[in-house]
Amino acid sequence: MFRRLVLLGVTLFSWSAFAADNDADRLIAEALKPSPLETNLRRLTDEVGGRVPGTPAFKRAVDWGVAAFKDAGADSVQTEEFPIQHSWAEGATEMTASLYSGATFPVHAVSVAWAPALAAAKHVPIVDVGAGSAAEFAKVGDVAGRLVLVHTKVLASWDDLFGEYERAPAIIALALKGKAVAIAFMATREHDILYRHTNSVAGELDLLPQVVVAREDGERIARLLASANPVWANLSIPNKIGAVIKTWNVVAEIRGSEKPDEFVVLGAHLDSWELGTGALDNGCNAALVIDALRAIKASGLKPRRSIRFILFSGEEEGLIGSRAYASAHRSELDKAAAVVIFDSGTGKATAFSTGGRKDVIAAAESILAPLGQFGVTKAIPTAESGTDHFDFMLEGVPTFVADQAEANYLENYHATTDTFDKVDFAQLKKHVAEAAEFTFALANRADRIGPRLNRTQVEQTLHETHLDQELKGMGMWDDWANGKRGRER
Ligand SMILES: [Zn+2]
Repeated sequence: MFRRLVLLGVTLFSWSAFAADNDADRLIAEALKPSPLETNLRRLTDEVGGRVPGTPAFKRAVDWGVAAFKDAGADSVQTEEFPIQHSWAEGATEMTASLYSGATFPVHAVSVAWAPALAAAKHVPIVDVGAGSAAEFAKVGDVAGRLVLVHTKVLASWDDLFGEYERAPAIIALALKGKAVAIAFMATREHDILYRHTNSVAGELDLLPQVVVAREDGERIARLLASANPVWANLSIPNKIGAVIKTWNVVAEIRGSEKPDEFVVLGAHLDSWELGTGALDNGCNAALVIDALRAIKASGLKPRRSIRFILFSGEEEGLIGSRAYASAHRSELDKAAAVVIFDSGTGKATAFSTGGRKDVIAAAESILAPLGQFGVTKAIPTAESGTDHFDFMLEGVPTFVADQAEANYLENYHATTDTFDKVDFAQLKKHVAEAAEFTFALANRADRIGPRLNRTQVEQTLHETHLDQELKGMGMWDDWANGKRGRER
């Protein structure tokens, strides 16, 4: 503190640095104080539970968000409605496998989300297509009228997870072309853990019925087939699919003191899958966004620009809520100074990913410096497509996604086991401090952290980071290329 006081007398720059450091210390201290964070998350997970858009549980989650933002001291709270093309809910999926001897055994299976239903199908031959490459499909030959079993590897890294999404469209296309009845993907988790996966990217219905089968059951079937034992499936996937649904983003605001029309977004998605209760993905970070608002208000500090705290819906169905928000607010995106997103459970944050931008790194690291005590002072020019910053990034707005250690996120990802007991509250509290400090500093800077990029500049970052390849693999490139998504010019 003494050193800072000495610098204070020297130049105006030192004074502003001192003030910023002082603000940071106040925000961090406020964020680390006891708060309703844990109670809020317990209510969202244990009382509301899994929350798929279009369900009563999601409506209860919206009520939870509105009430918690008000309690935290928001200047205003509102909900913003948008549609999703179809409602989708799993029925009583059933699968058994039978052998030539007449022996049968149950197969633990859940439907892939937004996949079509399959009326009870009996005695469907199962064929093993390995990892589902074109060469492996060709080797198997005729898959017509069959259930294709696809091998996977156990999920161990973020790359594995992106790979799981990236490989699926080609496998589905091959199964469709071969007129298969359905696809059974082996679970990427062990110990009979099942999880909700989706291969639909925008709330559209998928093209073929698909299930995830327990890894242990899938391996058993594969061993039987490999030892010349034919295996048949009895399979019923009575998914309930409906017409267009309405859902809501929840938006709270702290009004800016000097430039209230300019804004920074701190966001996390509120929706989740429903086999577990969506604690790590992403209830913990929805609760974080609310607690960051509380900490900023409690500090008494007023940001120059407004801060919008947004709980997005429809993330799991394809970033539909954040896309809808970016689209509905396109006319004011010139005033969007930055977007900060948390969406990876409670693994320690080690950096903020800038969506491929190098021009914002030095400025971002200068305002991350007070977070040295938590070990998150770096901004890195990586880019990803898997969370709610994506449409803002395509619109050229500076975005920052917390880059987090895998911790226990992947093993519980979208699974029956994603429950309150998995949350590391000591770490989550640190993330509240990081989010409050970083977001406030972005909103309170004299200048914006960086300009809004034009379409050519955005496309350049997509090429430089090879995100274009990932988007092509996942069937998400065409909307950008056709101008349906992202910055127009
Ligand atoms: Zn998520």
